[in-house]
Amino acid sequence: MNHSVAVFRADAYTPEACTRAVEGAFAALEAPKRIGPDTKILLKPNLLAKHAPDKAVTTHPEILRAVIRACVRRGAKPQNITMADSAGGLYNPAAMEALYKVSGLAAVCAEEGVCAYTACETDLCAADGRVVKEFELLRPVLQADFIINLPKMKSHVMTGMTAATKNLFGCIPGLKKAEWHTRFPDKERFGHMLIDLLETVQPDMAVLDAIVGMEGDGPAGGEPRSVGLVMGSEDHPLLDLAICRLMQFDPMRVPYLKAAAERGLLPENGFDPAVLVGEPDAFLPVENWKIPSSYENGGEGSTDFADSRSRIPAFLAPVVRYAEKWIAPHPVVNRAKCIGCGRCAEICPRQTITVKNGKAKIEVNSCIRCFCCHEMCPVKAMDVKKLSVFSL
Ligand code: SF4
Ligand code: SF4
Repeated sequence: MNHSVAVFRADAYTPEACTRAVEGAFAALEAPKRIGPDTKILLKPNLLAKHAPDKAVTTHPEILRAVIRACVRRGAKPQNITMADSAGGLYNPAAMEALYKVSGLAAVCAEEGVCAYTACETDLCAADGRVVKEFELLRPVLQADFIINLPKMKSHVMTGMTAATKNLFGCIPGLKKAEWHTRFPDKERFGHMLIDLLETVQPDMAVLDAIVGMEGDGPAGGEPRSVGLVMGSEDHPLLDLAICRLMQFDPMRVPYLKAAAERGLLPENGFDPAVLVGEPDAFLPVENWKIPSSYENGGEGSTDFADSRSRIPAFLAPVVRYAEKWIAPHPVVNRAKCIGCGRCAEICPRQTITVKNGKAKIEVNSCIRCFCCHEMCPVKAMDVKKLSVFSL
């Protein structure tokens, strides 16, 4: 595997800017040289939920188009290219057709003559992971012989940030994702599960959409933020490490990067700008990137929080453990905004949300703080609440 990160400027989603940057990334990496007329290619965008491209939640359709054309320029046949993903909710043909349509990805696939996968078939796949021995994955993931991951640069209320590695969670069908949250409520083990998934799927490369990213309470509830870059790499954890540098966010607060570091998948001395190829001068930290509110002031993954816990006398530990579910960042329903659609209840892995009289209600005692409800709410009615006891 080539351990470089390609970076190219692209200040707008025009076909010219996307083509220049994506082609630059393809030319700078080794993996695209393996693409040929018989290569079965899977393109894995970031879909998440039903959002239009200007919301900056999903991979932009012009990035998809530029990647398809870069593959075709290298000899790939459009009929051998498939785009597939599964969002957080139900995984069925009608749901996927609607998602592909709203995100603008279906139109690009039709125009470029490639398949937008809606059959929604899945297969079991053995995994030789640290915490997982078997995954159920979308069938095209297992049928492809060249996988191009197409993530987006975003903040994330549960994991701090999301880019290449976390985007592979969409290879797991729909509501099955909730089962993994239930199985690994602890973030450390959830991080190892994602690294097991990365090692099972073995994507060949990623092309990351950072023309407009999302800061704040992403992956769906934040605000779009112009970054003006397209980046590519064959090394997913390294690409994510580079994104942390852009966000000026401590990668050891990201559960899956902590897991990757523990497993020797990240450079021991942290991010080294020498890995950048293409237009490294364009790689400038984004000023005042807004981190998720769950991570602010000693929140998730913070050493302040760990330190303050370690200073608490042992006899108070059970009380603190009980109180933590109220103190630690957790979702709360903004009743004024809630439209009672029930999507949060559908996705909740602990089935701890009910909708009564048109408003959602969370039973906090059972909540594992996975923030899936926050991700899936179509009207940003799930707020993140945190008491400032972290700085005690
Ligand atoms: S909180 Fe959001 S997802 Fe849940 S019922 Fe209300 S509007 Fe729907
Ligand atoms: S209420 Fe929200 S954060 Fe809590 S377990 Fe359910 S989906 Fe996860």
